Amino acid sequence: LDVVRQVEPRIAEAIGTELADQRESLKLIASENYASPAVLLAMGNWFSDKYAEGAVGRRFYAGCRNVDTVESIAAEHARELFGSAHAYVQPHSGIDANLVAFWAVLADRVEVPALRDAGVRQVNDLSEADWAALRRAFGNQRMLGMSLDAGGHLTHGFRPNISGKMFDQRSYGTDPVTGLLDYDEVRRVAREFRPLILVAGYSAYPRRVNFRIMREIADEVGATFMVDMAHFAGLVAGKVFTGDFDPVPYAHIVTTTTHKSLRGPRGGMVLCGPGLAEQVDRGCPMVLGGPLPHVMAAKAVALAEARRPDFQGYARRVVENAATLAEGLLRRGATLVTGGTDNHLLLVDVSGYGLTGRQAEAALLDAGIVTNRNAVPRDPNGAWYTSGIRLGTPALTTRGLGVAEMDEVADLLHVVLSATRPGAGPDGGVSKARYVVDAGVVERVAGRVADLLGRH
Ligand code: PLP
Repeated sequence: LDVVRQVEPRIAEAIGTELADQRESLKLIASENYASPAVLLAMGNWFSDKYAEGAVGRRFYAGCRNVDTVESIAAEHARELFGSAHAYVQPHSGIDANLVAFWAVLADRVEVPALRDAGVRQVNDLSEADWAALRRAFGNQRMLGMSLDAGGHLTHGFRPNISGKMFDQRSYGTDPVTGLLDYDEVRRVAREFRPLILVAGYSAYPRRVNFRIMREIADEVGATFMVDMAHFAGLVAGKVFTGDFDPVPYAHIVTTTTHKSLRGPRGGMVLCGPGLAEQVDRGCPMVLGGPLPHVMAAKAVALAEARRPDFQGYARRVVENAATLAEGLLRRGATLVTGGTDNHLLLVDVSGYGLTGRQAEAALLDAGIVTNRNAVPRDPNGAWYTSGIRLGTPALTTRGLGVAEMDEVADLLHVVLSATRPGAGPDGGVSKARYVVDAGVVERVAGRVADLLGRH
């Protein structure tokens, strides 16, 4: 940090504070983790300076032999770890990996006339009518994915993301009573809508998905089956999700992030069979800029770590911890979407505490507990205020907390949420953002958090 401090002390300060925050707060964000020092160090080096557009052995720049080594090793680890014929390790993030996959499927399956044939000028200038013209040029290709409020991701065809502009989208939701994925309903919508791409995968669904059934549905309607395993890639790598719950044998194409339960650097990856490999490898320059060789080096290290036998123990503990946390919350009277979890995350419906997700998230942060607010199915408070908080165990499990500590974590959450109530809005009505929390409770919980983390 001293080297950074000499150039821009405020950045050194922010890095130091971030380390302290991550050490001293209870990190329950389901999409975060603690990468190992080996992963972090593989990222902080001279590879960052290197341009390497293209693919291994076919670069548009000279001097890429070391990048070729790094990219080949990362891809080899990914293929071996997930049992996939092909791996593309260049995507800079999960969104990029999905974009690579969408373009690969479009290129593979659709005759795409040149954009100018659709009368397109600058992409930023596109009106909704232009997008409609563009979609017509693509042949109005359709995507079917999980709805946002059931736990799907923005990149699965929703308006704020390019996927929602490129594709004519429909969603499948979850059963209004059980909160579980209803495969008969997915089949019904798929038969009616006949998508080009059927997407499975989620950011906030606390259960496993049966990929065998989803593939059967895709086959029945002639869809390419894509799984975005960004959230649960670590559970696939750690052999907790096997058989029907392992997406790799069933999906035509699988995308993932590398930084969530997989515990690598921030980044993305695409896995596929030989049929789509050529199109996927065109990700750069089709939708990606120059690869990030330093991040690919860190991906290789993280994937090597995930191939070690102890990673399977880690993945098992992540799921056990989530189950124990869920039991602890249920025993104390909390409401969980679907009534529990069988993966690494759970979704607490905090309307049972009389709060919005935003109030719950803020009050917990006061006590040193970091979570994120998240919509629950058919959420009356929408995507901004929400009625839920999402909790995940990958980070705390890395830190060494086990089932014995999860009951304590459940208690800390419950104590803070029970001591919080909505504040008054500016107009005197009940606010969805402001909250009042008992300061003594916050102080006591913060002390218990420090004590718990001090032991790990
Ligand atoms: N796909 C899913 C299912 C995700 O949950 C996320 C991130 O939250 C992404 C894709 C996007 O990943 P990134 O933030 O790396 O672009």
